[in-house]
Amino acid sequence: LAALVEQDLDKAAETEDQERIYLYLNAGLSADTNIAVNKGVDGVGLYRTEVPFLMQRSFPSEEEQAAQYRSILASYPGKSVVMRTLDIGGDKPLPYLTIEEDNPFLGWRGIRFTLDHPEIFLIQVRAMLKASIGLDNMDILLPMISGIPELDESKALIERAFHEVSAYAASKGQVLKRPKLGIMIEVPSIVYQLPALKGRVDFISVGSNDLTQYLLAVDRNNSRVASVYDTFHPAVIQALKHIQDTSRALSIPVSVCGELAGDPLGAILLVGMGYRSLSMNTRNVAKIKYVLRHASLADMTQLAYQALQATFGQDVRQMATAFVEQRG
Ligand code: PEP
Ligand code: MG
Repeated sequence: LAALVEQDLDKAAETEDQERIYLYLNAGLSADTNIAVNKGVDGVGLYRTEVPFLMQRSFPSEEEQAAQYRSILASYPGKSVVMRTLDIGGDKPLPYLTIEEDNPFLGWRGIRFTLDHPEIFLIQVRAMLKASIGLDNMDILLPMISGIPELDESKALIERAFHEVSAYAASKGQVLKRPKLGIMIEVPSIVYQLPALKGRVDFISVGSNDLTQYLLAVDRNNSRVASVYDTFHPAVIQALKHIQDTSRALSIPVSVCGELAGDPLGAILLVGMGYRSLSMNTRNVAKIKYVLRHASLADMTQLAYQALQATFGQDVRQMATAFVEQRG
């Protein structure tokens, strides 16, 4: 089976009936970018920039960041690389920055932290933009957006960085391409503000890990409540369907970059709901390609339809498991 799974690695992902599904990598460690699956993916759907920050002893400088980002972007020439701005706090504290809070997951994390430290945000965005000069394959993604003011404030800062780096590029006779801008859909409040995103963002990316955590009010890392953390909970499934339907109606490109996209059961449900773009850890790419190649769009659509009627997460899981098992 392993050999079967591996054989299609170079080919693009598609369903049994040849519907193209776009597969992207979640990355963070540079090592992720040097592996065999790269040829058969459409780019990087989520580059977690906090990883290089976590590996340092202090905040990396603009030059250090630019060099790191450039090496990632250069590994995917002509393919899009979505770079997410710093998402520290919550479960990702920086060793050189102590944040003490009673509720870190509800506290100073992601965009909340960087908007309170615009100097850190500006350095990072400038580094990203500098890294992209001449490669022109970078998109920017903002984590933990809970309302439009955070987005508008971030956009103003990005605009400022864009002008600064444009001038820098011009001084070297080069042109800076404007990156596409997207936000993570991972805080439930933003699920109900999708229409306000029209014209404000170029794409959205669903973070099913945090969306599950915040919809169900359950710590994603607490083993005591691990059984409550259920990505197949009907409320999560309904939210995912709502996001897909609404973003399609608004013509906002959408992808899913949470762990669900790299889970065979999750991937077939997502494709059945209408998602065509999934981002996952490299180790899951071969498996997901295999599962998609053995399932038709009509069958996945039917499965998702049934899953959306379910009252229990356990039933959703069972339906999806049976579906995959029937197809080897
Ligand atoms: C998510 O929340 O689903 C996500 C992809 O981001 P992270 O896991 O880095 O919080
Ligand atoms: Mg998240």
